[in-house]
Amino acid sequence: MEKGKKDKKGNLYLIATPIGNMDDISPRAVEVLNSVSLVAAEDTRVTGNLLKKLDIKKPLISYYEHNSAMREEKLISTLINGNDVAVVSDAGTPAISDPGEYIVKACIENEIEVFPIPGPCAFVCALIVSGFSTKSFTFVGFLPSKDSQRELELKKYSDNKETLIFYEAPHRLLKTLNSMKNIFGSERNVSISREITKKFEEHKHFNLNDACEYYENNSIKGEFVIVVEGNKTEKTESVSFKTLEEHLKHYINAGLAKNEAIKMVAKDRNVSKRDIYDYFKKDK
Ligand code: SAM
Repeated sequence: MEKGKKDKKGNLYLIATPIGNMDDISPRAVEVLNSVSLVAAEDTRVTGNLLKKLDIKKPLISYYEHNSAMREEKLISTLINGNDVAVVSDAGTPAISDPGEYIVKACIENEIEVFPIPGPCAFVCALIVSGFSTKSFTFVGFLPSKDSQRELELKKYSDNKETLIFYEAPHRLLKTLNSMKNIFGSERNVSISREITKKFEEHKHFNLNDACEYYENNSIKGEFVIVVEGNKTEKTESVSFKTLEEHLKHYINAGLAKNEAIKMVAKDRNVSKRDIYDYFKKDK
């Protein structure tokens, strides 16, 4: 592989691999895997199986989060000696919630050229089928597993207008959705993609309240991406109203019907319309 070769240094290739459907491996990924001297893999067994399917025989070394610093020296010296190296994660695009970022930085520092070999990436797939704005978005990735830390992290994003994207493990999905409901409000829209490109693939669109209810009553299996619509509520002075009565009156005085006014109050306060109705019902 001669592309971009300068001096006698080799190139580093970050190669995207399938996230489920093996047919998603690109011809270029196969070509580059065939051409490199060494493949640095997140898990050598997983990548070993992929190479076997592709009938490619290459030396493999492990390159994962906890050995990345130690491995960098070996990878950089291999590259400096003129050999091309590929970095591959278990699935999807390397360096996206997967190893890759640090070796790229080290290559740039050592004036080694780095090339992406594009392909599947779970968050891009989930974003484009979410129906939410794709013009501006924030990829957050995995949230902290501790409830308090997770909610603190979510608070940072609660006013964001852009679409938000999260990765989550199945055993934490419901907890995370409940945290999102607490912080973003029950009415916020969410799109949940499961098992993208696999047999049981599905893409569900609800508000956070309905999403929590759904996953409380259905089994949670597989891999998930959570896409949350950006905050669409306009921050107005109304949020500073001391009481719900004052807040509601503000909109009624502005000419809205009671129903519409309740909707606006719920939006401003990031709560469900039902909460506001219940409050006024109790009051009677
Ligand atoms: N580098 C990968 C990429 O490009 O998407 C992401 C790796 S990260 C360690 C794994 C997480 O990605 C999973 O926990 C899940 O949130 C998401 N993911 C990966 N494959 C998926 C799939 N087929 N369907 C849904 N989510 C997936």
